[in-house]
Amino acid sequence: MKIICIGRNYVNHIAELQNERPAEPVVFMKPDTAVLQKQYPFIIPDFSDEVHYEVEVIVKINKVGKYIDAKFAHKYYDEISVGIDFTARDVQDALKAKGLPWEKAKAFDGSAVVGDFVPKTDYASVDDINFELHKNGNIVQQGNTSHMIWKINELIAEVSKYVTLRTGDVLYTGTPEGVGKVAEGDVLEGYLEGKKLFKIQVK
Ligand code: ZN
Repeated sequence: MKIICIGRNYVNHIAELQNERPAEPVVFMKPDTAVLQKQYPFIIPDFSDEVHYEVEVIVKINKVGKYIDAKFAHKYYDEISVGIDFTARDVQDALKAKGLPWEKAKAFDGSAVVGDFVPKTDYASVDDINFELHKNGNIVQQGNTSHMIWKINELIAEVSKYVTLRTGDVLYTGTPEGVGKVAEGDVLEGYLEGKKLFKIQVK
């Protein structure tokens, strides 16, 4: 499987990092080795002093697709969840300043938290779902998928122009505002419409 991520998909998050609003979705990937294995803690890598959490709604692709039309994109996923796109922000800032690729900041081992998947039919519309990240019991990020610049179906259409989607691939749809640094001892919990779908320890 592969992990496809979308950057800069929420206006308020673009503002907090002082990025430009993109004219088309920003796409990057993580390898399958980035998936944090279930029940494992997230270990802060020693090459970064500023690892940020980014909570995101994630979508599991259920069949092979290429050049998927946005109006048929809903047929390519049945399950959604929340995850974390861990980002070594200091490393990313240095790479961005030089116009270099982000893999060292985004694709490292353990950088992709995948919550338990739930059927999308549990929700009236995938374009109106609340999600949250709690850190040590306090809400640190809160979003609603209606605030995405590009909605899930549009993202699937865009990504599949470039990359064939396969069964089991996971799409990260971008983070809302409120990203922040993790510290040893933190406990992070992800919620989709009030349902807890992951809990991880930071070490
Ligand atoms: Zn992200």
